[in-house]
Amino acid sequence: MPGYDKLTVALGARSYDIVIGEGVLAGAGGHIAAVAPNRPVVVVTDENVAALHLATVRTSLAEAGVAAREIVIPPGEHTKAFEHLEWLIDRLLEPGISRDTLIVALGGGVVGDLAGFAASIVLRGLDFAQLPTTLLAQVDSSVGGKTGINTRVGKNLVGSFHQPVLVLADTDVLDTLPRRELLAGYAEVVKYGLIDDAEFFAWLESDGAAAIAGDAAARRHVVATCCGAKARVVAEDERETGRRVLLNLGHTFAHALEAEAGFGNELLHGEAVAIGIVMAFELSVRMNLCAPRDLARVQRHFESVGLAIAPPLSGGRDWDAHALLAHMAHDKKARAGRPTFVLARGIGQAFLQREVDTDEILNVLEQAVAA
Ligand code: NAD
Repeated sequence: MPGYDKLTVALGARSYDIVIGEGVLAGAGGHIAAVAPNRPVVVVTDENVAALHLATVRTSLAEAGVAAREIVIPPGEHTKAFEHLEWLIDRLLEPGISRDTLIVALGGGVVGDLAGFAASIVLRGLDFAQLPTTLLAQVDSSVGGKTGINTRVGKNLVGSFHQPVLVLADTDVLDTLPRRELLAGYAEVVKYGLIDDAEFFAWLESDGAAAIAGDAAARRHVVATCCGAKARVVAEDERETGRRVLLNLGHTFAHALEAEAGFGNELLHGEAVAIGIVMAFELSVRMNLCAPRDLARVQRHFESVGLAIAPPLSGGRDWDAHALLAHMAHDKKARAGRPTFVLARGIGQAFLQREVDTDEILNVLEQAVAA
């Protein structure tokens, strides 16, 4: 296909392609019919994405002769919850559903995580395709098969590993994404450079702003680089028993911030990730693992694109370091109530650290909330 990048997530019989490029959605029907010939489709999307991009997918599916129905869910993190899962499953189970049905998740990480989880449990598992429409979903959540919902106790605590059969990332749809959402996704982009690709981080320092501003080639490079990195990690460690855990750089802190802020609009996931990454580097510097100049580079880069590097003090919130620490004990990766951390020896040198002194964590949190 001219002008498209195609990557493969190599998982044996469950391998799948990621197609990346401008205008990919207009050809979605052909791609879907190729992986799931003569099978009915249910497109799951949210209200915002439906208004902007559902027509393109609908037309393309019709042109390819694919029978499709559509389910539209409310937008936002609060939709990743039991009540919406139940509602979605009831809609999916309407007459016409069969083991052959392919679920198509068209939207950001919320749609992908919820529809993917529903696909993994309805009729004991249906195939699904990811059509990610946010930067965060294109570079991270649509690849790798993690699906799930939040519970009252915390984020992503109920879910499954269920790999998609296809990922179609149309970089043109990022044009309609609000800037705040684009920047939140960019935090996950930076994460890949910081984990193990110092060269990519240096490229982001020089060209990342162009990708944010809308340069098509830069955007494609960003999505392809991140998907390539994620595809390699997932192929090596599908169930996150080893290397995949590094993708959680910044996330132990981020999840605590999100839990404290209430998973709402006050602090988006990606915004929390940027702050969490800075905290992870601060912790690494405190533990004499990382040079302060690398922390400074990370802070400078986030600030240069407009991402906050400390919890926002607007809105009158009084962040409490002890409350944040308490949230960390509930984190999925916590063991016996002790959080684990991805730390860094420098840019592109992340590693997993299970034992971290609680006082050091508190110091980082106290300094961040006092900033
Ligand atoms: P999101 O799905 O809530 O989308 C953000 C907002 O943008 C929503 O209001 C949505 O309606 C709107 N939107 C989506 N595409 C648009 C477009 N092209 N134009 C205009 N508006 C558009 O949020 P997100 O940041 O994509 O995803 C966050 C979720 O992803 C979190 O729940 C997080 O836990 C999850 N996540 C999952 C994984 C994974 O591996 N499964 C990885 C990272 C994050």
